Amino acid sequence: MICLGIEGTAHSIGVGVVKDVKGKCKVLSNLIKTYKPEKGGIHPREAANHHGLHIAALIRDSVQQAAVNISAVDLVSFSQGPGLGPCLRTVATAARALSLSLEKPLIGVNHCVAHLEIGRGTIHECTDPVLLYVSGANTQVIAFAEGKYRVFGETLDVGIGNCLDKFGRTLGLEFPCGPRIEQLSERGTLYLPLPYSIKGMDIAFSGLLTSAEEYVRKGHPVEDVCYSLQETSFAMLTEVTERAMAHTEKQEVLLGGGVASNQRLRIMVETMATARGASFFVPRKELCVDNGAMIAWLGLVMYASGVRMSLDESVINQRFRTDMVEVTWRD
Ligand code: AMP
Ligand code: MG
Repeated sequence: MICLGIEGTAHSIGVGVVKDVKGKCKVLSNLIKTYKPEKGGIHPREAANHHGLHIAALIRDSVQQAAVNISAVDLVSFSQGPGLGPCLRTVATAARALSLSLEKPLIGVNHCVAHLEIGRGTIHECTDPVLLYVSGANTQVIAFAEGKYRVFGETLDVGIGNCLDKFGRTLGLEFPCGPRIEQLSERGTLYLPLPYSIKGMDIAFSGLLTSAEEYVRKGHPVEDVCYSLQETSFAMLTEVTERAMAHTEKQEVLLGGGVASNQRLRIMVETMATARGASFFVPRKELCVDNGAMIAWLGLVMYASGVRMSLDESVINQRFRTDMVEVTWRD
């Protein structure tokens, strides 16, 4: 079975084509275009306009790159939520139009669950992980328990990526700021104390962000502040992930989201996993960031398990929670 998936929850629009090979995911193509605001954060309407501008060409190019005929596409899936309303609506409209014109079924999928399933689908040994999902807008620790994907811990304010981007903006860095902060932090030598805020299993970043900005204003070297910001925020993420692993007794940890590119975060989570005797996995970069292939794969898995969706049911949901998904494809 071949599925074409469209992702467009926030700043990027992606189209991917995947194929099911003996229950595992073969990515045939996976194209992404990213909207970069000229200044400030993401403006939802402008991001949606960007997506609308590129979507038709991306669909055409991804089918071409997959080397399949468009008529060979068996299913169309799209990111139904969570995300920015205008972006979700643009993508859902394109997906509905494509499904109707190809006369192929349509499935809307949960973006966060797609980040987890693409790990299970593409990494052979990854079967039942705790996912640390770290992106711009989202920060969640997710695992399968008692028939559902449940959120064991999450941010109470901004996502870790947004926290890094906001901090980077005060330094005058270009969006997305995470990679540059990572480079700067490698030259940091002094750890500056920052608030370590875990509440129950949840995390808050805004106090940390304010304190980091304060250090910069007081003239501390930017490299030290970046280093301290990463050490503190990543330690918080690693702690919550470890506690979720201990609670669920799972032996695998998976990273997902754009911040999963960060080497320091990888090392911290991998060190924790190794100390527990658990396995550590990160999908390759283009499958970690928001991408169409993961949406295509989850659509395919859902369809194969019997899920069907009418046009009426394909309405977007900006606040589509991970634990709202009925998981029909796992025991
Ligand atoms: P996503 O929302 O999943 O597409 O991820 C985008 C976020 O990932 C942005 O906030 C980036 O700043 C962040 N990001 C990308 N690369 C890195 C990196 N190497 N270190 C930290 N954050 C990163
Ligand atoms: Mg994402």
